Amino acid sequence: MQSGEVIRAVFESGETIEFVFDANAPRGGMKHTFFTPDKKYAVQFFNDPKDAANPLIQDRIRTITGIYNPTVSEENGGAAGNTEKTAAYFRQRFCWPVGILKYPVFGIVCPTYPKNFFFGADASAVLNLKGKDKKSNWFTGKNRKYLAPAERGDFRTMLGVAISLCRSIRRLHVAGLAHSDLSCNNVLIDPKTGSAVVIDIDSLVVPNKYAPEVVGTRGYIAPEVLSTLMLDFGDPKRKLPCVQTDLHALPVLIYEYLFCRHPLIGPKIYSSANAEEDDFLCLGPRATFIEDPKDTSNRPPDLKFTISSLSDGLERLFLKAFSDGLHEPSERPTAMEWERELLRAWDKLVCCDNPSCEKKWFILRDKNIPVCPFCGKRKTKEIVLLELKSEMYGRKGIYRDKNEIAVFDRMPIYDWHIFSNVRNDEKADTQMRAYIALHNGRWLLVNSGAEGMLSPSGRLVPKGNAFELKDGDFFRISAKENGLLCKVTVCNKS
Ligand SMILES: [Zn+2]
Repeated sequence: MQSGEVIRAVFESGETIEFVFDANAPRGGMKHTFFTPDKKYAVQFFNDPKDAANPLIQDRIRTITGIYNPTVSEENGGAAGNTEKTAAYFRQRFCWPVGILKYPVFGIVCPTYPKNFFFGADASAVLNLKGKDKKSNWFTGKNRKYLAPAERGDFRTMLGVAISLCRSIRRLHVAGLAHSDLSCNNVLIDPKTGSAVVIDIDSLVVPNKYAPEVVGTRGYIAPEVLSTLMLDFGDPKRKLPCVQTDLHALPVLIYEYLFCRHPLIGPKIYSSANAEEDDFLCLGPRATFIEDPKDTSNRPPDLKFTISSLSDGLERLFLKAFSDGLHEPSERPTAMEWERELLRAWDKLVCCDNPSCEKKWFILRDKNIPVCPFCGKRKTKEIVLLELKSEMYGRKGIYRDKNEIAVFDRMPIYDWHIFSNVRNDEKADTQMRAYIALHNGRWLLVNSGAEGMLSPSGRLVPKGNAFELKDGDFFRISAKENGLLCKVTVCNKS
């Protein structure tokens, strides 16, 4: 076969697809990849014909494209409980195989990544990035400084990337699946839009199926996996990739997105005799969190922005993941816990008043100390907080705190800000119901579609109308069932 030759492949379903043969096709550890003539799909074959012919591997991949597939609705043969809405949501966030080939050999077909996950021509004046895929480490490692500022995103969009990734991993884990090689190479991110896509889905760990022989990627392999890597694959003492090992890789990625540094690679020298041994100890049996409060031996001397600059909840989770859970897998926070705390932090973002601040946003941890941890600038403008409270079940008129949001001009209000029984997740309606507007120095809540909104004086606020948010006021954001109560706090007044 010659490069450029178009070959017809056949799916197990009998349908066909054409791909372009390329003698220099990109090769990963397990597979090599060709593309369809329109480049909409990647057609992948195993490097080792023994893998391609292995019925156990074939069986695992069939369940991944079938009953475990969150990108296809249950009705169309995808995962149980999956609607067309949630399937469409996850199609944007996973590069999930769409079919299995039986000819010329066993292989898989995946959609190519959405366009925004490839660098454009203006991504960097120094590096030649045009057409390269946006692997996470371009944005978190030493190359970040060479990226055009517009490419880097800001703290808010990086938090958005982390939320998107957590949601996808939570979806896998809820179904009992584990990614097994979650890393900067297998998560493409677009900080411009705050989005992430998870790739290399065919090596998922599937319950009761033959485990993929994946080693993982340096920096993301859980310490217990690295520590037992020298044992045979079948040795019961050997620790293999699973949900708990994903729960190490996930916070490593989140930490990198938020801090642009690795949580375990610090100044500590574990072995001065041998660089390889030093690396093994640093990420494996002796791994130490650079911000560990009990063991500061790996702490860089110049750490300014730390986990204590995030929300209480995120600080607690990072300590659970990298202090308590680093060598104790059962202690690691779940993807659902990460998603919940990242969303709470998202609600507490305030913009930095310093126009030259690179991160632009920070999490308001203490409303009495509104200081940007990145540039050190104290906020001079006032901050409006909405404390959302939900009525306790069966106890009319008794409310408990749900969450607190810091508002900004033109902030959209969705159902999850209005009703206690709606979560901000893939199932939620993303129709804007109201928005915040700063008009002539006054903060307004404008009703653009919320039913039953009441003003602080208890009057119904019809669609298209607005009222002012004043310090100390209470109002029902919706008087309908499960509608939240809202308390306004204006702080940092000049
Ligand atoms: Zn700042």
